[in-house]
Amino acid sequence: MSSSVTGVIHDLERILLSPEEIHTRVQAMAARLNVELAGKVVTVVALMDGALFFVADLLRQLEIPVRMHTLSASSYQGGTATTGEVKVNWPAGVDLRGQDVLLLDDILDTGLTLSVISERILAQQPASLRTCVLLSKRRQRLRDVPLDDAGFEIDDEFVVGYGMDYMGRFRNLPCIGILNPNKPS
Ligand code: 5GP
Ligand code: MG
Repeated sequence: MSSSVTGVIHDLERILLSPEEIHTRVQAMAARLNVELAGKVVTVVALMDGALFFVADLLRQLEIPVRMHTLSASSYQGGTATTGEVKVNWPAGVDLRGQDVLLLDDILDTGLTLSVISERILAQQPASLRTCVLLSKRRQRLRDVPLDDAGFEIDDEFVVGYGMDYMGRFRNLPCIGILNPNKPS
C-alpha cells in the first residue's frame, strides 16, 4: 500500500474488512448473480456515491448483459447519523418498465433509503427487482427492505472506506474501517 493511503488508514480505529476479504466476497456475489440472472439483460440501479467501488467491482465480474443507471440518494448529509429524510436525485429518462432490475447500495442501515427507492422502482412495473448491498447493519430497521444478498453483516457502527465517506472523506480507502473518534485531523 502506498504511504499516502497508509497515512489515511491511521485515521481508522480499526480495519473491519481488508481489501482481500472484500474482493473475495464481491467475487462470490457476482458468481451468484451470474447463475441467478443467466439469460437476462440486467438493468442496474446503483446508488451513488457510496456504492461506487462496490458497483464497479461487482459489475466487472458479471457475465450477463448489463445496463446501468446511477442515482444519488442522501440521508446523512455528511454526518454519522441518518436525518430520517431521504433525498433522491432521480434522473430523467429512466424507464424501468418490464426490466429485470438489480438495485445496488453500499449499506442497509435503517432501510429508509432502499425502501423509498424500491417503491419508486416498483411503481414503474419492472419485470423483476433484486436488491443487493455490500454491508447490512445488525440493527432494527425503520422500514422492511426485501434483500436478496448482502456481502457482510456488520455491527451498528459507522464505517468508512471502499466508497463510503465521513464528511466527504475516506472514500478512497481500499479497506472498510471504523473511524478513530479522536480523528480525523
Ligand atoms: P438507511 O437509509 O438504510 O438508514 O441508510 C442507508 C444509507 O446511509 C447508505 O446508503 C449509506 O449511504 C449511508 N450509511 C449508513 N450507514 C453508514 C455508515 O456506517 N457509513 C457511511 N459512510 N454511510 C452510511
Ligand atoms: Mg448511500
